[in-house]
Amino acid sequence: MEQWAVSSALTAKGKNNIIARLCCAQDKMQLSGFFIDSQEFARTARHAEGQIEVRALARLADVLADDEGVLDWSLDGELAKDALGQEQAWIRVIVSGELHLSCQRCLLPLDFALAVDNRLMLVSSEAEAEEGMLDEDDEALLDGPDLIVAQLEQSALELVEEEILLALPLIARHEACALPQHDDGKAAVSPFAALAKLKH
Ligand SMILES: [Zn+2]
Repeated sequence: MEQWAVSSALTAKGKNNIIARLCCAQDKMQLSGFFIDSQEFARTARHAEGQIEVRALARLADVLADDEGVLDWSLDGELAKDALGQEQAWIRVIVSGELHLSCQRCLLPLDFALAVDNRLMLVSSEAEAEEGMLDEDDEALLDGPDLIVAQLEQSALELVEEEILLALPLIARHEACALPQHDDGKAAVSPFAALAKLKH
């Protein structure tokens, strides 16, 4: 592995490029511990893909009924024009698989088919990101893409996890819960009735 032999002399950026190349050669990549130079990843149209166990996504823990399962993910870098015709660097994040959320009405598990496919436009600073989002005079920007600050060592796990969180339903609910429910929002047994019983 000649590439590895020289890797110690490379910058972190160089190492990441080699990791990304190896990833493609092997076709699968561990998401944890995988960092990309996001500008470089986009500029050189790099691709990485793999699978991640749901239990490795710590920020999802609060919304999950259980952390079973595996998700497929991929990252693609590209240079493409934005709505104003300016060439920009992008990272496309695709994630799919099934998550077991908790229904907010009956608290039972709820299978959710995750289908993330989002393009993030790289900007050079937080200030530029805020400027892009606050410029309400410009409709193209107001309706514009999600912005992300470019980093030399962007955690691929963070990228994927963030996009998953954004794709989750605001309130996870079965269309029809298995348990008897009242449309007026009252519990099947009034808590006051239960209290009254306790008094006897
Ligand atoms: Zn339910």
